[in-house]
Amino acid sequence: MNETRERLKSQGLRITPCREALLDFFYAHGGAAFSFADVEKKFVEFDRATVFRTLKTLLESGLVHKTTDDDGVRYALTRLAETHAHFKCTECGTTTCIDSVVVRPPVLPEGFFVEHFDFVATGTCGQCTRR
Ligand SMILES: [Zn+2]
Ligand SMILES: [Zn+2]
Repeated sequence: MNETRERLKSQGLRITPCREALLDFFYAHGGAAFSFADVEKKFVEFDRATVFRTLKTLLESGLVHKTTDDDGVRYALTRLAETHAHFKCTECGTTTCIDSVVVRPPVLPEGFFVEHFDFVATGTCGQCTRR
């Protein structure tokens, strides 16, 4: 059994062709984050609703996490349990997980609960700087 299948099983998820394909895709791209439109374009063999549902399932299971920037929500493979920073390149438009920067959620006033916390830095990525 390959790693993708093992991951799905360890989260109690049934293995479906779409789940396997999407998770394989995220594995292949490590720390890169993709929008729903990016993912949808890569998997035209599945219908839109299936891709959307699968992404949601992977997100809920924690295998994939999300980051939000001014262009919307992006999804990436979860490699660390800790919240890390994300970097959005304004030149090439890519968003990358910066695993080396651990970000701690803010301590909020009583009665406030954090559902999603994200730290996104924008600027020019290493590849674009070298150009
Ligand atoms: Zn760039
Ligand atoms: Zn990330």
